[in-house]
Amino acid sequence: MTSRTTDGPLRSRSRSSRRPRRLAMSALLSVGLCLGALTATGSAQAVDGTVVTSTQSGGRTVSFTFDDGPDPTHTPRLLEVLRRHGVKATFCLWGDHVRQYPHLVRQIAADGHRLCNHTMSHQDLGSWSQQQIRQNLEQTNALIRQAAPGAQITYFRAPYGSWGQSPQVAASMGMQPLGWRLAINDWQPPGTSELVRRITQGVTPGAVVLMHDGGGDRSQTVSAVDQTIPQLRSQGYTFDQPAVR
Ligand SMILES: [Zn+2]
Repeated sequence: MTSRTTDGPLRSRSRSSRRPRRLAMSALLSVGLCLGALTATGSAQAVDGTVVTSTQSGGRTVSFTFDDGPDPTHTPRLLEVLRRHGVKATFCLWGDHVRQYPHLVRQIAADGHRLCNHTMSHQDLGSWSQQQIRQNLEQTNALIRQAAPGAQITYFRAPYGSWGQSPQVAASMGMQPLGWRLAINDWQPPGTSELVRRITQGVTPGAVVLMHDGGGDRSQTVSAVDQTIPQLRSQGYTFDQPAVR
């Protein structure tokens, strides 16, 4: 459990540069100031707290991300589809669902997908204090680690894209705030072919795509993913993970 010190990029940078502590503190402060200017879409210029919406490699790559699971019905089906196509994705998990279905978290990690903290039960963090946010994110991470010991929790995604002060907190806990460039609005299933259309026509090079494997009947999403992967590959796309800065 981290206390008030920073994890991840900030820590390694101050170590390697051997700057005096005073300078490291001022770097921290400026990160905080930049984060204060974050917008809901996350297009700020902050260093470690930037909300990423692009793939790691850029170019003709795409990242699939799935929110609100794990779900006992749809997550296993989705994992089977991704395995069959050899695609690695990112799963943004609710702590409450992790507690209910820890074996699915283990399976997600064992399949080589990346994990993302999506709060305990999809709270809107927009007006929360840093302390309240940290408590929620730590509780969620503890459940994920309990379910899948040793698994890395690479990202954090704020429910509803309501970021508030959460990018700052997530970055200080070593998690990359993760946004998206394309949302296919599959929370209200419009039919598989319409989802396929939204993905294949909406994708741009380097896009992080937001979809759902939990929170409702996601069978159309699973089918759309199955159909979309070969289509995107035939258009020259390869699959990548979201950027970590
Ligand atoms: Zn969500």
